[in-house]
Amino acid sequence: MTIGANPLDLDRTAIEKLGREAVEFLAGWLAELGSAPASDYDRAAELSALVRRPPAGGPGDFGALLETFREAAGQGVNTAGPGYLAYFPAGGLVSAALAEMLAQAANRYTGVAQTAPALVAMEQGVLTWFCDLFGLPAGAGGLVTTGASPATLSAVLAARQHRLGEDIAGGTLYVTEHTHYCVAKAARVAGLPASRVRTVPATGHLRMDVAAAAEMIAADRAAGLRPFLLVGTAGTTDTGTIDPLPELAGLARREGLWFHVDAAYGGGFQLTRRGRAALAGVEEADSLALDPHKSLFLPYGTGLLLVRDPALLREAHAADGQYLQDIGRMDDLPDYGNLGIELTREFRGLRLWLPLHLHGVRAFERELDEKLDLAAHAYAELAGDPRFETPWAPDLTVIVFRLRGGDEPNRRLLAAVNDSRRVFLSSTTIGGRFFLRLCVLSFRTHADRVREALAVIREAADRCAG
Ligand SMILES: *Cc1c(COP(=O)(O)O)cnc(C)c1O
Repeated sequence: MTIGANPLDLDRTAIEKLGREAVEFLAGWLAELGSAPASDYDRAAELSALVRRPPAGGPGDFGALLETFREAAGQGVNTAGPGYLAYFPAGGLVSAALAEMLAQAANRYTGVAQTAPALVAMEQGVLTWFCDLFGLPAGAGGLVTTGASPATLSAVLAARQHRLGEDIAGGTLYVTEHTHYCVAKAARVAGLPASRVRTVPATGHLRMDVAAAAEMIAADRAAGLRPFLLVGTAGTTDTGTIDPLPELAGLARREGLWFHVDAAYGGGFQLTRRGRAALAGVEEADSLALDPHKSLFLPYGTGLLLVRDPALLREAHAADGQYLQDIGRMDDLPDYGNLGIELTREFRGLRLWLPLHLHGVRAFERELDEKLDLAAHAYAELAGDPRFETPWAPDLTVIVFRLRGGDEPNRRLLAAVNDSRRVFLSSTTIGGRFFLRLCVLSFRTHADRVREALAVIREAADRCAG
């Protein structure tokens, strides 16, 4: 490699050469995602040993290093490929990856507005657009985080600060057994004992039982506790089920509780007509978490926190230090370091802004509509096959199913399906019973791969039954 006076400061020729090699590598690699195995552990141990070798004192060869990356990334689950139907697929938009390269190379500081006002405005513009999409009032805002877990932590901190103040003793919050554990984790980090996270019973449809929630809140209050936060989920992780958001919003309002909606998975569907109908009530949220690294196809590490009143986020997080005395406030622009747990942060705005502007909003809507159709089709096919139980029709694009009979044949079925290496599914346990779980969510997954998944499942079912 061309090495100038400072080897770390690549000259223009070197940047162009390395950049070209990297982009060519990327294009070739992405072209093979569909034919690559959905999962592969054959060389995991060997490659893990190889990549653990410490760096040399002198320079390495870029091509050889890329090759090592390609091989290492090929081990495990092909989460970017069309056969990935486990957990929450997203694929990882290449336009977002390119945005990321630019953002990281520019390396502008967005912990405060003053150092990069127009980039902070870019991020704020994206957040405001999302707030509008969810029907939050003017003045709403938020934060781009690395995922729903940190978004939820900041929401819980804001709720705690606003509703309980400095003395948090006796504060209780309300979830169901299907709520993602990031809420309990956030409560723990926020200093609330596990016993203060109340598990409200779910109905047979796996939704929070609103009457039961009202009773628990009343009983806790009568016992001297301080109910402060009600969490509804817009698309649970297990089954993609949406809690009765309008009723929960009403209950939270009547009881003076902060209403947080976990739309980590379901949030993206707000772009579709069907999604907006299913998520009705979300506009009542005091805070809302969603993961563009799930239902907006972005690379991992992209979450959003939207709040009705950003001042409450600031109250829970703002701090100051004399080393920041040169930083002035910019009118109308947030200092993101005061709204969340990070001060120095990567500029995550471009990875949202560029894909949305480049592809246009309708491209995302169409893609998500297709996933809703594909999930409905897969559900109908499995529900129509007498070998399977399918107790819950999908609200969005997660389908759970099992062979009639015990758990063991179902464990065998999951292993057999994944052994095909064409698709990769996951499983969960609901009501003490093992279910296979299929989620259609990647922009790379289309009808052909869903048909293939169904064929693989049907074929394996006969071998595994009994
Ligand atoms: C994935 C998920 C989370 C956690 O989000 P991360 O981005 O993984 O931190 C929270 N809630 C729900 C409903 C989820 O599906």
